[in-house]
Amino acid sequence: MGNFQGKRGLILGVANERSIAWGIAQELHARGAELAFTYVNEAIEKRLRPLAAELGVTRMYPCDVQKDSDLDALKVSISQEWDGIDFVVHAIAYAEKEDMTCKIRDIRRSGFQLALDVSAYSLIGVCGRFAELLAARKGAVLSLTYLGAERVVPHYNVMGIAKAALEASVRYLAYDMGEQGVRVNAISAGPIKTLAASGIPHFKDMLNAFAEKAPLRRTVTQEDVAKAAAFFLSDDSLGVTGEISYVDAGFNIVGF
Ligand code: NAD
Repeated sequence: MGNFQGKRGLILGVANERSIAWGIAQELHARGAELAFTYVNEAIEKRLRPLAAELGVTRMYPCDVQKDSDLDALKVSISQEWDGIDFVVHAIAYAEKEDMTCKIRDIRRSGFQLALDVSAYSLIGVCGRFAELLAARKGAVLSLTYLGAERVVPHYNVMGIAKAALEASVRYLAYDMGEQGVRVNAISAGPIKTLAASGIPHFKDMLNAFAEKAPLRRTVTQEDVAKAAAFFLSDDSLGVTGEISYVDAGFNIVGF
């Protein structure tokens, strides 16, 4: 079991106790990691504060990934605290409801740009800022994706396109940062009821169909994803990079 004693890292994307990033934070904390969190705005900060306090985390920074100035400031803040980081968790995605409910051919340019910027470019923006700190400790980066990147999942729409860009970014970043010993992977998680998921039309139907068809005949949990995340971020996976790994109760293998 991956040990995180003496390891420290940054987690982007905890919005509340249902967040996948929160599950990962709890798991890494339990294994001994020292954590820092970011929040996108004041409303999220309010929800995050008590959660962070539960884990004794005091390092919390504002960061809207659409703003270069926020990413730059985050880099400065973290560099002042730590001379290297062992891991970064990127658990961020956003698209306007309108661009998830319309026909693909009707997706607006602005909605496309927004979804791609927040959900895909942000990984590149974050890796750029933290490349040196990660290299200092031969760290690992982990992002979160979904099957809708590879297959048509009705109602996932523009987010599927953004996740395809995210998955390609994982591979290119893994190649790029591998030279410095930094690994970049992603988990393709099965559907979990979270704030972000509530924006996906007919999400409940998706959950029900999933539990019926997945080989394990159940949905996946925050804990399932968190344990796999700990593997990808720990020394247990030192030879693994550029992987998109399913944590989906086997759903992806089923044809009809
Ligand atoms: P969540 O709503 O808890 O997390 C999404 C996070 O993105 C929130 O913390 C939100 O504040 C943050 N965010 C949105 N716009 C931002 C911006 N401009 N700057 C900074 N942060 C911003 O939902 P979640 O389901 O835990 O999502 C985490 C990741 O997991 C996402 O990438 C999501 O696509 C992915 N994922 C989720 C599921 C699922 O079914 N829930 C399945 C597969 C993958």
